Amino acid sequence: MRKLDDVIVSLATPPLRSALLVVRVAGNGAFSLTDQLFSKKISGICSRKSYVGIISNHKKEAIDEVVLLAYPAGKSPTGEETVEIMAHGSPLIGENIVNAYLSLGARQAERGEFSLRSYLNGKMDLVEAEAVNDMINAQTEESRKKVFLSLKGETSELLSPIMEELGKLVASTEVSIDFPEYNEFEENATGGSKDSVCRLISNLDELLDGAKKGHLYQNGVTVALVGKPNVGKSSLLNALLGEEKAIVTDIPGTTRDIVEGTLSYKGVPLHFLDTAGIRESNDQIESIGVSLTLKAIDKADVVVEVLDASCPVSVETKKDGRVTIVVENKADLVKDKKDGVIYISAKEGDVAALLEAIYQNLGFTSADCVTPSFSSERQISLLYKMKNALVEAKNAIEDEQPISIVSINYLDAYNCCKELLGLEADRDVEDEVFSRFCVGK
Ligand code: GDP
Repeated sequence: MRKLDDVIVSLATPPLRSALLVVRVAGNGAFSLTDQLFSKKISGICSRKSYVGIISNHKKEAIDEVVLLAYPAGKSPTGEETVEIMAHGSPLIGENIVNAYLSLGARQAERGEFSLRSYLNGKMDLVEAEAVNDMINAQTEESRKKVFLSLKGETSELLSPIMEELGKLVASTEVSIDFPEYNEFEENATGGSKDSVCRLISNLDELLDGAKKGHLYQNGVTVALVGKPNVGKSSLLNALLGEEKAIVTDIPGTTRDIVEGTLSYKGVPLHFLDTAGIRESNDQIESIGVSLTLKAIDKADVVVEVLDASCPVSVETKKDGRVTIVVENKADLVKDKKDGVIYISAKEGDVAALLEAIYQNLGFTSADCVTPSFSSERQISLLYKMKNALVEAKNAIEDEQPISIVSINYLDAYNCCKELLGLEADRDVEDEVFSRFCVGK
């Protein structure tokens, strides 16, 4: 993935019949290859230009009449000479154009390689680059809006004041290590910095809260429906999805496999898992179902315990601090409703209260899609690492440990900031990020 001096080419649209297709070519030398294939000369232009002309193969056989956009170096998305060719949308035409460039020495682009070049050429930071991919994969309108803020750099901007403050802390501790004779430096470096550290820790807590939500908007919330057999879990899944996906019977223990379904509520993708009812069973297949249920609970973000409102008895399940919502189904069977209980009726399709409870319990609000936030696992783990380094620094100050210990932790936090933005990213991390992209992006 790392050769940046060659010309890369790829189809940027799916290889299907469509109205138009786009082929992208990038790398210094892209213009001179294009001059050999296109009916008009593009080398030598100083600003972006569009052309209509004929693209041919290396034997000068015409392939198609196309619109061609030419971006000179420094004025393209990757920073290098770039050509985008819009042709009639036949997979054969796309293949012919790509082959024409390959036969002149261009190389097929790898996944995410256009974006990688754009990042390596300083056109965007790593958070913005991740947003490019998230934009393509956004499942709801709200998550697309949210990701767009990251693409415009608003999420990266959240780190600026933190990075600036960390830079000052690193500098002040280093001064007092280098010049120990000036005691007041040491006092300033520790005494004064404790307030800063506490502020930074609370800033990071806010960023982490936002990032957890950002991650859920992007990847969806996994919700496990659990409860005793026959409380109406399968009926609930069907009512939520508006289709008969799970088998409903009044024979307890019929759901043995996990049945899944996805819907979106106020822009949050929700993946529901209907599980086998939890009970002791001598039936081998049902017991396997119960153990699958326990695994589903483990991977769920939210556990919804469904009770039968006409006989609300809870089952003991391991939820370890996970968001748990208890709902009473079959509300149509009870006359006297208790306060503080979430009632639903799968039979009557009355399940909105559950969706709203999930939304609120996870802290989502309508302001989320206009609030920038971090979202990827990479970003979240670096925010945690940064916070932990600052907690260590704070402890070291409180325990009156040597200033060098405090300083090391400041530097760790500062480096996490740089790594988050990709200012000092490791190659493996970069390759990992860009390999998740599609070819042509
Ligand atoms: P599960 O074993 O928990 O998945 O339960 P099912 O969805 O298979 O439902 C068990 C029985 O309860 C079936 O006869 C359903 O028709 C009935 N049932 C489910 N939801 C409701 C409800 O909201 N009201 C009423 N009255 N019956 C329901």
